[in-house]
Amino acid sequence: MTKLTDTFGRTHNNLRISVTDRCNLRCTYCMPEEVVFMDRQELLSFEEIARFVHAVVPLGIDKIRLTGGEPLMRRDLSRLVRLLVDIPGIKDVGLTTNGLLLADQAQALYDAGLRRINVSLDALDPGRFRELTRRDGVEKVIEGIFAAQQAGFRPVKVNAVSIRGVTEPEVVPLAKFAREHGLEMRFIEYMPIGAEQWERGKVYFAHEIMEQLEREVCPLMPAEDYDPRAPAMDFAYTDGQGRVGIIASVSRPFCMSCNRIRLTADGKLRNCLFALDEADVKTLLRSGAEDEAIQAVVRRNVHDKWEGHEINTARFVKPLRTMHAIGG
Ligand code: SAM
Ligand code: SF4
Repeated sequence: MTKLTDTFGRTHNNLRISVTDRCNLRCTYCMPEEVVFMDRQELLSFEEIARFVHAVVPLGIDKIRLTGGEPLMRRDLSRLVRLLVDIPGIKDVGLTTNGLLLADQAQALYDAGLRRINVSLDALDPGRFRELTRRDGVEKVIEGIFAAQQAGFRPVKVNAVSIRGVTEPEVVPLAKFAREHGLEMRFIEYMPIGAEQWERGKVYFAHEIMEQLEREVCPLMPAEDYDPRAPAMDFAYTDGQGRVGIIASVSRPFCMSCNRIRLTADGKLRNCLFALDEADVKTLLRSGAEDEAIQAVVRRNVHDKWEGHEINTARFVKPLRTMHAIGG
């Protein structure tokens, strides 16, 4: 069967699945403080998600990441992990979580077959954590990170959003914390996908993060597996103590090597994080459609994919959904 290639020659093998729009944090850069969440009836069941994945494997999808909202708020997520890991053709299932509920679930997730985990943590300082997330809980997140290591996840990656003057003072403490505990730190440029007013000036850019790390932590060199087309630019510290990834979504967009599609918790397919249009797959799944019908919708959606986001131009239009309702 021909693969999921778009009109720019990009082949898609990577599916991000959001399992809920609910969250136990309220990160200012991601979602508004007050939200009306999706009705639970609107959420795809685990069986519907697995059915969709079965249908898209023949199109070349072999890599999955579960996200949200906060995916660990969806009850018994390890059952979904098991369902997905068991689908022939799926090589890799990962998870992005804020870590608050991870201490209790890490082992069950690992035992279910999950092998890649990214924990989001923007600040080690409790006051700054609260300012950013509008909630408390930094110690719970740290506990979750250690529990993930204990359960067998290697490496545990830690993601931090990079906002000028806000998370900037956390870059060095986070980098040092990661080096000390064998974690892989990844800094992500702040993108215009949350509820707040975004401006380019608020982004603390990749080259600034690198300069700060080299000045205040340790010089960097491209990691052995550095891939200029990958979203993360991976560097190793020259003293051999760990590595760091920098995701320059704004200053160095990687749209031309994008291989991702996204399924929202309410069953809509998006060919880009910033897409303005979506394709409805839930109705197909709930009306007992054949695989061919689902595949045709996915093909059409990928075919229609644009060249890339236009964050850096006046043409940029922010999608109606904010990040927590898309799936980061
Ligand atoms: N709740 C989980 C978490 O926080 O890891 C998963 C969902 S969250 C939307 C996924 C990732 O998107 C997190 O690492 C978060 O920091 C990132 N994110 C959210 N809003 C962002 C923004 N405006 N710019 C850059 N990254 C953002
Ligand atoms: Fe929740 Fe993750 Fe969004 Fe923070 S970034 S509000 S933890 S979904």
